[in-house]
Amino acid sequence: MVHPNMQADYPGIEPAVRDFVSSGVRKMLIGGQWVPAASGKTFTTVDPASEGALAEVAEGDKEDVDRAVRAAREAFEHGPWRLMTASERGRAIWKLADLIEAHTEEFAQLETLDNGKPITISRAVDVPLVVDHFRYYAGWATKIEGETIPVSTPGQYVLNYTLREPIGVVGQIIPWNFPLLMAAWKLGAALACGNTVVLKPAEQTPLTALRLGALFDEAGFPPGVVNIVTGFGETAGAAIAAHPDIDKVAFTGSTEVGHEIMRAAAGNLKRVSLELGGKSPNIVFADADLEAAAVGAATAIYFNHGQCCAAGSRLFVEEKAYDTVVPRLIEFSEKIKLGPGMDPSTEMGPLVSSTQFERVTGYLAAGKDAGAKAATGGGRPAGLDRGYFVAPTVFTDVHADMKIVREEIFGPVVCAVPFKNPEDVAKAGNDSEYGLAAAVWTRDIGKAHRMASILRAGTVWINTYNQFDAASPFGGYKKSGFGREMGKAALEMYTQVKSVWVNLGGHETNGG
Ligand code: ADP
Repeated sequence: MVHPNMQADYPGIEPAVRDFVSSGVRKMLIGGQWVPAASGKTFTTVDPASEGALAEVAEGDKEDVDRAVRAAREAFEHGPWRLMTASERGRAIWKLADLIEAHTEEFAQLETLDNGKPITISRAVDVPLVVDHFRYYAGWATKIEGETIPVSTPGQYVLNYTLREPIGVVGQIIPWNFPLLMAAWKLGAALACGNTVVLKPAEQTPLTALRLGALFDEAGFPPGVVNIVTGFGETAGAAIAAHPDIDKVAFTGSTEVGHEIMRAAAGNLKRVSLELGGKSPNIVFADADLEAAAVGAATAIYFNHGQCCAAGSRLFVEEKAYDTVVPRLIEFSEKIKLGPGMDPSTEMGPLVSSTQFERVTGYLAAGKDAGAKAATGGGRPAGLDRGYFVAPTVFTDVHADMKIVREEIFGPVVCAVPFKNPEDVAKAGNDSEYGLAAAVWTRDIGKAHRMASILRAGTVWINTYNQFDAASPFGGYKKSGFGREMGKAALEMYTQVKSVWVNLGGHETNGG
């Protein structure tokens, strides 16, 4: 139940933020205009720390997606965007980064109110990573190159070269765990490559994407290059995935919805890239720095309250070190300070929504029913009766076939499992339908790299966890999806290659 009172009244809220959440309906950005949903419908976003109503947002659906696609198509085919040089495109992206940076506090507060994450994290992690991400792709705009190909054509002078061209109109559907950062991951590469975009933020957390929308004009993007449609997955999201005039869909979210996106995309054979779920193994060998590994195991699962697709949710500890690492992890878990994200002393906020709270607590119940032991946590923390709070939880006595070991929980819940040797743990680590990330803690450099090679995951961390950088590719193996975001690799998802053949005339001579 959503409580009717406005809850954006925490101390220190910026007037601009209070205005943004409380001044009427937040409209959508289509063709450079702020417009209500064609249906006139709106929905309410919720502050997950208080369960209070936060903002009223336009509820877009198929008709609004149609309008946004028309605007994006027009901007791609005919607008000034096509005539802008790569350098101008890069400068617009850079300017966008500057504008975001100048509004860091506003973005951080909106993100915390909408998503629940601690304000200290929104300020120090989310917004700076977004700024950095756009700057990185601003640099790429002028470096997207084709190749000259040494074709073997007997007796003829022939030139063959390739052009790397934008794909066209791109639909981007993003989740609620890092709302602004996921928008940046999607937009940076797409815009650097010259595409136009219809972006749909998650219905739980649309505010920072909408605030971002207000900066495109000032940054120098022509109208229609970026369109933002807010609404629900089954309506607005599904309309993007199925739209016959969208050339590519990029999705980050659950594996279940990933299947639906791919099916819907088949209609017009859109390009698809999917960044989906995970159940990442975090492997601690007895020869590791065990203090660093135990603290690393805590941050691997608890960062963003476990609402990370790359969360280290299966902790494997070599038998000899199990009784050192797991108690230390439990001790760390019990010291984490939970509270509303807007309180600067909060280290872990609430989960994003009542649905997510039900999902995670459902897994906690399933784990206990199956015989696992919640060595710490296991439910709502004492003293926090309102808000979607779940205590950091370490499950022990688990088996490989339990739901809590196999399925993505997306909450602050880790399963600790002892292992005997590298062969066993490699097998256990890979025993998952997912393959997003993995980590290995050891002082044995050979073992570290052997494990990195054996683990079937798109990212492997050694003696660290949750390192991300705009320059380094990120994406999944197996059911964690395909396509890579960030780094040079993302440019491939947003360009297509054209091969140009030129008959240069004349006959081949040796020039003598
Ligand atoms: P979660 O279940 O954790 O909310 P989802 O995968 O459902 O994660 O949501 C991620 C994004 O996908 C959100 O923007 C959501 O609106 C969107 N979405 C959900 N269902 C669909 C669907 N059937 N088609 C397209 N997009 C969807």
